[in-house]
Amino acid sequence: MADKYTDFVSRGWGRDLAKRLGLPQPVALRRYEPGAPLVPGPVLLIGAGAGADALETALKGWDVEVVRDPAVVPADGGTHDAGASPASSASPAASAGSGRGGAAKLGGIVLALDTVARPEDLSAPILAAGRALRSLAPNARVVTVSRRSSTADEPALAAARAGVDGILRSLAKELRSGATGNGILLAEGVGADAPSALGALRFLLSGRSAFVDGQFVTVGTAKGERPGDPEKPLAGKVAVVTGAARGIGAAIARTLARDGAKVVVVDVPAAGDALAKVANEVRGTALQLDITKPEAGERILEHALGRHGALDILVHNAGVTRDKLLANMDAWRWDSVIAVNIAAQLRINDALLGSGRLGEGFRIVSVASTSGIAGNRGQTNYAASKAGVIGMVRSTAARLAPIGGTANAVAPGFIETEMTAKIPFATREVARRLNSLQQGGLPLDVAEAIAFLASDAAGGISGNVLRVCGQNLVGQ
Ligand code: NAD
Repeated sequence: MADKYTDFVSRGWGRDLAKRLGLPQPVALRRYEPGAPLVPGPVLLIGAGAGADALETALKGWDVEVVRDPAVVPADGGTHDAGASPASSASPAASAGSGRGGAAKLGGIVLALDTVARPEDLSAPILAAGRALRSLAPNARVVTVSRRSSTADEPALAAARAGVDGILRSLAKELRSGATGNGILLAEGVGADAPSALGALRFLLSGRSAFVDGQFVTVGTAKGERPGDPEKPLAGKVAVVTGAARGIGAAIARTLARDGAKVVVVDVPAAGDALAKVANEVRGTALQLDITKPEAGERILEHALGRHGALDILVHNAGVTRDKLLANMDAWRWDSVIAVNIAAQLRINDALLGSGRLGEGFRIVSVASTSGIAGNRGQTNYAASKAGVIGMVRSTAARLAPIGGTANAVAPGFIETEMTAKIPFATREVARRLNSLQQGGLPLDVAEAIAFLASDAAGGISGNVLRVCGQNLVGQ
């Protein structure tokens, strides 16, 4: 699972060789550490109006230094060597224009674009952001905050709003040195200061979103709450995680527990020993259960309510692959993948939603896959199930709305797990590098996105599919 190539090109002559040959040069990504600053330097906030002012207030509340005037950020980032590498770590420190002279590089750029009405309105803020790119620190963040375009918009307004999509996805591909670009889309009537808009901004600026790149989070309503303690956003919640004996599921269990939740870990009886270890580690409880059993929903509910008195969060993570080209596909491969990856989730959701025993604000987060979005050779069965997960959460989001609940999916790309370690070397290397961050993600990266979507701050985010893929360059 170790990414030896990244180690090799990160230092000494390996780094020089990779540079000379023009090979990918992935860097160690900035990940969440308790107590660490939200961003690695001041944030340039571009834009005017009530939305921008609300974002400034929030940023300052998170102890982030805010620069409002792009003109004070040096256009060359204090270096003349950053042409191909806007966030180059090789650049000397440049003034962020904070009035401190020679201060830290920018930790991020936030673009408040919620008032754009015509494509021409994009010119000034986007070009200002462009001039500041060379002043970004390694692992910095660019986040746009704009309005979702809809068919109800008149054409120029729809064009301006949709234009942000093309800008952000292209910009994210231009960033280097672990920097990422992501966007927040506000539905009509939702302000930039809505709890979920600010929750998404905090997540996207932080180390928790290390492997989320080139993506948009849509905030559909002004629901959601600001967390009491941002370091323990799941305090007091009871969460169930399926397929938690190893891999991504175990990482999800650890992350939800780190964030304050009481966690029930679920896996097949054959994985009982590993499951018990994870349960002990997270100080939770284990439920040995094959999720394809007809009574799985009732068993989960009884365990969570009986042992912990509540069920607030359900993470559908358990999944299997049985790859074969469709020409060679057999019924066992097809049916078993559908049974575990989607049919079981549907049945469990039906049992829980039909029980009348769920509390306000119940959260479902399902693990999909980029294979379910872009397709993958040899994975018609798997892609059917994962695309099915995406369809399911969109439909379930509407069913949960009356109790203030949400349903979302996270779609991982290439993640370093036992599953991907088995891929032949050459194929694995290609799959690993073909994203904007030029490396595989960690199970923790998927877990962080799930923890965010499960939090109270994300109460206004439902029916979303958040890709954790480093901005895969292949497919949709
Ligand atoms: P994994 O095989 O390491 O772990 C899956 C876990 O699910 C195992 O512990 C397994 O015992 C459990 N499980 C399988 N069938 C079950 C059943 N019927 N009942 C209960 N538990 C069951 O896989 P992983 O790589 O950690 O993947 C976790 C999820 O992430 C899966 O849904 C997978 O499709 C998805 N995913 C993984 C990647 C990746 O790169 N690893 C990429 C995209 C999506």
